[in-house]
Amino acid sequence: MNQNYIYILRCSDNTLYTGWTTDIKKRIEAHNNGTGSKYTRARRPVELMYSEEFDNKQDAQRREYKIKQMTRQEKELLIAGYNTSANKVTTLYDTLFAHYGDLHWWPGQTPYEIIVGAILTQNTNWSNVEKAIANFGDNLTPEFVANIDPAELIDIIRPAGFFNQKALYLKAVTSWYADYGYDVGTVQKQPLDELRPELLKVKGVGQETADSILLYAFSLPTFVVDAYTQRLCERYPLTAGKDYSSIKEHFETQLPKSAEVYNHCHALIVINAKEYCKKKPLCDGCPLASKCRRYGI
Ligand code: SF4
Repeated sequence: MNQNYIYILRCSDNTLYTGWTTDIKKRIEAHNNGTGSKYTRARRPVELMYSEEFDNKQDAQRREYKIKQMTRQEKELLIAGYNTSANKVTTLYDTLFAHYGDLHWWPGQTPYEIIVGAILTQNTNWSNVEKAIANFGDNLTPEFVANIDPAELIDIIRPAGFFNQKALYLKAVTSWYADYGYDVGTVQKQPLDELRPELLKVKGVGQETADSILLYAFSLPTFVVDAYTQRLCERYPLTAGKDYSSIKEHFETQLPKSAEVYNHCHALIVINAKEYCKKKPLCDGCPLASKCRRYGI
């Protein structure tokens, strides 16, 4: 599927030109060699000032129409905002925080429960994880999981789905934790840049799981990127890239390096995604509506 883009060019006479394309680079080359449009042919060279990316032509063209209706001043504000997108993460965080406050959101009662939850939540929803966690009763400890027969563990975690795999993953991550004597303080004493790669080598632990464990179970400052974060980045938009690492780096370089702030920020994104920024967004009432370029699209 082709990506679709809308773009704004600044022409040599300082006027602005808005267009739609599926290939920005080629399109700008065309404008600059005189085959792009009649308007830009007489106003070369042109410079790309702004762009937005869309999954489909219809949304891109709707946005193009909206931008074309804007006044010159509104377009300049859009361009200025785009070029200072480095500040957008803090603006987003401040806006969500002002609306929802401190959510005191923590995905578990104990560090080990958080580790288990981070594994069990893969490819399922949280209510299934809760059912599996409830099945442990008073036995949700690393010692119990380390010693239990795999078949029994599978039965306990069955409500979370993919139970055969997840039982193996739980055994593996528990064995990793055993190397630290199941002690939170001992884990916390290790440098984060050694712990993270180490956890990523554990069977069943990908980037989101590793960061969830390190942030929520051990209060270490590593930002968690999930599907809600990726969706918001694309819609708002944040020029954070598309892959996990670049989005994580984008948030981490914009926010103060603090486990508390990363925790709040992620929790705020999650609650806003559940209330408003759903698959089909409910933009009316969303606290980000006045700043989000997808509002009303
Ligand atoms: S305004 Fe709409 S698209 Fe933008 S963040 Fe809010 S719900 Fe999502």
